[in-house]
Amino acid sequence: MTPPASQTPSQLAALTPAERLDRVRDDIAIAARSVGREPSSVTLIAVSKGHSAAEVAQVIAAGHRVFGENRVQEAQAKWPDLRQRHPGIELHMIGPLQTNKVRDALALFDVIQSLDRPKLADTLAAELERGGRRPGLFIQVNTGEELQKSGVLPREAPDFIAYCRDDKRLPIRGLMAIPPAEDDPALHFALLRELARNAGLTQLSMGMSADYQSAVRSGATHVRVGTAIFGERHYPPAAAESSDET
Ligand SMILES: *Cc1c(COP(=O)(O)O)cnc(C)c1O
Repeated sequence: MTPPASQTPSQLAALTPAERLDRVRDDIAIAARSVGREPSSVTLIAVSKGHSAAEVAQVIAAGHRVFGENRVQEAQAKWPDLRQRHPGIELHMIGPLQTNKVRDALALFDVIQSLDRPKLADTLAAELERGGRRPGLFIQVNTGEELQKSGVLPREAPDFIAYCRDDKRLPIRGLMAIPPAEDDPALHFALLRELARNAGLTQLSMGMSADYQSAVRSGATHVRVGTAIFGERHYPPAAAESSDET
């Protein structure tokens, strides 16, 4: 697979987050145009997990406004203050969400991309009924059917989408997936796109630092890019989240 930028890792490390952000935006524009899409049809989510508020502030200063976090607690520590200082921030929750954190998540996030089970749909619907802030929602699909990964299985996706939309009246925008690291991501992007098309959903959150160009060529409307913008995270990615329920 071609790396997202033409520089070597050490040259990339010498760039500032703002410079890397520019490179990623350029890559997205090239990938979009290569398949006849407008670059503006792709939303770049800068994934700031594992990075400090000071690092995030550099990317905000460069004009970026859309960010992603994968843990409620980390986001709560970082974002209320950043939000207050910088209007127009759009924050996406991209990690597993425990039902006991739903209220906190709704208070902080504009979009929740990790809706992955009926119990979470029920809890979200109950909170929205109470008049909670209405988020945009993506349903996460486990396209690689990996045991350790969240998301509904592809064969269960149509019923789960119908449950969320029709039974629970949730504002579902699209589908999200994290392909297995060892597979050709394009196959997973195609599967996600097909599942969305069959359900009449138009938004697709797919593509990370290693594969966002491929994702854009496959129709991604949202790419979630962390390392290629911020550099290596300050904690091991494997420690990301332990969900205490399924
Ligand atoms: C961390 C994370 C990303 C960003 O990963 P990078 O490889 O650093 O770009 C994207 N999506 C999800 C769900 C993540 O948890």
